[in-house]
Amino acid sequence: MRLYIAGGCGEHGRNCFYMQGETICFLVDCGVMAGESGGGYPRLSQEQIHSLDCVFLTHSHADHTGALPWLLQNGFCGPVIATQDTMIQLSPILPEAVPLESICPGGSGCFRNLKVEWGRSGHCAGSVWYRFTENEKTILFSGDYTEDTLVYPCDALRGKTADLAVLDCAYGKDETPFAISCDALVSQVAVLLKKYKLLLFPVPKYGRGLELRKLFADADLKTEFYGDALFLKNLNRVSEDPFWYTAQGAKWCTAAPYSGQKAGIVFISDPQLRTPEAKGLADAALALGGHGVMTGTVENGTLSERLIQQGQMTIARYPVHLNWAQYSALAARNQFKQIIPYHTGVFSAPSTIAF
Ligand SMILES: [Zn+2]
Ligand SMILES: [Zn+2]
Repeated sequence: MRLYIAGGCGEHGRNCFYMQGETICFLVDCGVMAGESGGGYPRLSQEQIHSLDCVFLTHSHADHTGALPWLLQNGFCGPVIATQDTMIQLSPILPEAVPLESICPGGSGCFRNLKVEWGRSGHCAGSVWYRFTENEKTILFSGDYTEDTLVYPCDALRGKTADLAVLDCAYGKDETPFAISCDALVSQVAVLLKKYKLLLFPVPKYGRGLELRKLFADADLKTEFYGDALFLKNLNRVSEDPFWYTAQGAKWCTAAPYSGQKAGIVFISDPQLRTPEAKGLADAALALGGHGVMTGTVENGTLSERLIQQGQMTIARYPVHLNWAQYSALAARNQFKQIIPYHTGVFSAPSTIAF
């Protein structure tokens, strides 16, 4: 087998891995690099695109799926395989897909000659890791992965063998334990809440927002919670789906629609504040003396970046990936002959690896 890295190693974004087997060629993810003028698409040739038998997706985030329309425009017409939850989240850009659950029920199965194993990766609803085997050669992709999760289950990778593993190491050389990061975030939010009364949290459509809501409930943060329509819809799903959400039955799953209240925490399902609705909501909250809190990566040229530059938004990370300590622990708990860290500009990798 041969892995060709089309994006995602030595950089943050554009995650895309081209696999050339003996009888099958496939992609794992097809993301875009945010904010790049040329589109920030994966480094794939026309020949590679035309050779593809299928695409496997780890989850719906744009750094893993945003180049799918570009891939289709460039002639790919094979099946895209993803969990049903990922398919629903991607329905605006991906009209058709094959549910992973249908070809690999219960976590394992085959696509032609390729043996496929998968498990939940703890990063958001629908997110998975993959282990592929063809003719005795095995490669594992962690996808965006974390075992330290408050809301999303993770089928922890333990005792797995692989000739090559591509593992999440998005936080580079950072070694801060999860609990310390959470405590620091809660303390910082408590201080900001005291100062500004009204805090605005721009969060991804799927993932980190619910984790934050649970964290603030566990920390008994005394304030009111609000969210936009998608955030409230996602909160409701927690009690309905025990497969993708761990934290059922608790009182924490509450928030109200935001309508101009002057105090509380407001979740907006648009991390970079790109949509007119998100901008309008942010403007309204800031006009009331509110302050923004960015818990993930800020993208260039966005309203979130501008608010940070103007001192109207504070960065306080909530971890939804692995750092160096967690990456090293994961490597030690499995038997991988070769490992490549991805999702970070801190570590680079060769563009092609044969095994
Ligand atoms: Zn992600
Ligand atoms: Zn990612």
